[in-house]
Amino acid sequence: MADRLPRLRGAVIARLIVISGPSGAGKGTLIKRVMSCLPGLRLSVSATTRGRRAGERHGREYYFLNRSEFERRIEEGRFLEWAAYTGNLYGTPGKAVRDHLEAGRDVILEIELEGAKKVLSQCRDAVMVYIMPPSLEELERRLRGRGTESEEAILDRLGRAKEEMGEVEARVAEGLPPLHYVIVNDKVNRASDELARIIERIRIKDEQADH
Ligand code: ADP
Ligand code: 5GP
Repeated sequence: MADRLPRLRGAVIARLIVISGPSGAGKGTLIKRVMSCLPGLRLSVSATTRGRRAGERHGREYYFLNRSEFERRIEEGRFLEWAAYTGNLYGTPGKAVRDHLEAGRDVILEIELEGAKKVLSQCRDAVMVYIMPPSLEELERRLRGRGTESEEAILDRLGRAKEEMGEVEARVAEGLPPLHYVIVNDKVNRASDELARIIERIRIKDEQADH
């Protein structure tokens, strides 16, 4: 990944938007809403070693790989970033992201915090939005309500959420990178409007940089 996004006469022609936040915070819900109202956005499809949930399809929600295939792709340098998360590996295939950006399409990565930090350290033009649940109690309600995880997976995810949210709160308090925006997903309509406004603002800023 180049450390700057593709440009034309100095202006960014496509943006890399990293959306992170604990599992169950509502990232997928907000991204779906925003993609239905804003044109020109592509969601990167990650690879993972986790098992497929009911209704998930290979190549749509994820590329579902076994561990040795995933590790082979790491060796071959095919991931823009990858991370271990609650016992499984997750990674962003680099080629698709680069192809979209070079074709002038904005790309959304929906990834956990370690991977997000790697992307932000590699690409200084990338923008990061962190989605917070209103509280840990509400996060637990949402994870349980979604009904996709075993009890063990719910507890692992809540443990990871507590660590991540602590780190994010400390970074915000100290004004540390790489957090550009934090959205509290209290109400879906309000939070998805906020995410859409942020993306529109990033686009306008890039257009103004052209003049
Ligand atoms: P993530 O992609 O961050 O893991 P999801 O988008 O799958 O999270 O949301 C987790 C669950 O919470 C889903 O059942 C979703 O319908 C629900 N949810 C998302 N946003 C809200 C909200 N603002 N209020 C109540 N429930 C929500
Ligand atoms: P889930 O198993 O709930 O689909 O995802 C678990 C976590 O992995 C979520 O926080 C999700 O954002 C993150 N994730 C999904 N794809 C990737 C990826 O390609 N890289 C990284 N680092 N995290 C990912």
